Amino acid sequence: MYSKLSEIISDERIKYNEPLSSHTSFNIGGPADVFVSVENADELSKVIAFAKEENINYFLLGNGSNVLASDEGFRGIIIKLGGDFNEATVDGESIKAGAGITLTKLANVAMNASLTGLEFASGIPGTLGGALFMNAGAYGGEMCQVVTSVKVLDKADGSIKSFTNEEMDFGYRHSALKENGCIALSCEMKLSTSDATTIRETMLDLNKRRKEKQPLEYPSAGSTFKRPEGYFAGKLIEDAGLGGYTVGGAQVSEKHKGFVINKGGATAKDVRDLIEHVIKTVKEKDNVTLEPEVLFLGEIK
Ligand SMILES: Cc1cc2nc3c(=O)[nH]c(=O)nc-3n(C[C@H](O)[C@H](O)[C@H](O)COP(=O)(O)OP(=O)(O)OC[C@H]3O[C@@H](n4cnc5c(N)ncnc54)[C@H](O)[C@@H]3O)c2cc1C
Repeated sequence: MYSKLSEIISDERIKYNEPLSSHTSFNIGGPADVFVSVENADELSKVIAFAKEENINYFLLGNGSNVLASDEGFRGIIIKLGGDFNEATVDGESIKAGAGITLTKLANVAMNASLTGLEFASGIPGTLGGALFMNAGAYGGEMCQVVTSVKVLDKADGSIKSFTNEEMDFGYRHSALKENGCIALSCEMKLSTSDATTIRETMLDLNKRRKEKQPLEYPSAGSTFKRPEGYFAGKLIEDAGLGGYTVGGAQVSEKHKGFVINKGGATAKDVRDLIEHVIKTVKEKDNVTLEPEVLFLGEIK
């Protein structure tokens, strides 16, 4: 069934039964039937057209830093953006970057060009595409503050379009990509000129604060829950006495109660069950409904 993929991309970029645990920051997830890396928009459209023709499921994975992948893995094709999608070019105070570039690399490109505005992103372990999808943010910064336009592939008809910042409909951990099923190919951002040393110091300071507050020594997907309006998820979880609560290998971090961590050998089911327990307990205690920020990939049984 998958042999036709070799006509689209070279064989060394097609892997079979690839463990998703190697591609998610939780280090969790069973095998994907097929795992491919595409180098440009043409390959991406062809792989998607092939999957549609053959009625095969597919999923676009960024850096896997906000995903809980099923222990059973994924029946279909996992697509990753490589090659051209990792490039970034600076033009005055603008940066154009491919959606596969990591936020750390992107923030460094900005810093080296003495451009301020992306310092907040330097410690977020995702790709630009994942950050656009999620409107990722930290320490008062958010993707929506710097994005001017996003080039996308519309999976519905294979067309390539461009969305303005407004059309991206950014909100708290929300963008239009969550609704319209488009894949971000590249993005243009407008930053401001500043001093590279100051930018570097800010990035170092934010990353130091991350290390102090977050359990970066364990695999996780960052903040497990969205911030409920008027509350902080971590504080609600702490007040419910859930710090350190454990299911199998999954635990509510003692260091940052908003993080579920993989203490060792956690399954997706452990994490999912722990998330459900936290939601139920906080609801009973404070009548606040926590919503996972982490996205579930595949069926978690
Ligand atoms: C230690 C740690 C700290 C974190 N800190 C923060 C933080 O401070 N702030 C924050 O916002 N998040 C944080 N996160 C969560 C995560 O890094 C972000 O949500 C990030 O934006 C996800 O990017 P990704 O490339 O890993 O996406 P993935 O997790 O791979 O995918 C997430 C979603 O984005 C979609 N997607 C990926 N690429 C594209 C694309 N090109 N076009 C369309 N859709 C796409 C995927 O299909 C999926 O639905 C943290 C995670 C960890 C592990």
